Amino acid sequence: MEVAWYSSIMVTITLRCQYCQSTRLIRNGLAPDGRQRYLCHQCGQRSRELPRTNAYTAEERETILRAYDERSSLRGLSRTFGISRNTVTGWIKQK
Ligand SMILES: [Zn+2]
Repeated sequence: MEVAWYSSIMVTITLRCQYCQSTRLIRNGLAPDGRQRYLCHQCGQRSRELPRTNAYTAEERETILRAYDERSSLRGLSRTFGISRNTVTGWIKQK
């Protein structure tokens, strides 16, 4: 199932709070621009997934690219990881 596959990928991706660097983030709905929002359990700040490429570690980037190789679904990837399609497209071009 699609959902099960995404869940298995999710555990390998570590999102960090942009205020306190905690990894204890929970999804908190979508921003008006469609990006995923997160609520930090540690400091209570709400943050938005950053669209910058360097917001991801090399390891996370590999995982996302591997997911893309398997499914070739940019829409699914951007929805799951809160990553912009342009970012993923840029990575693919760099390969
Ligand atoms: Zn925090």
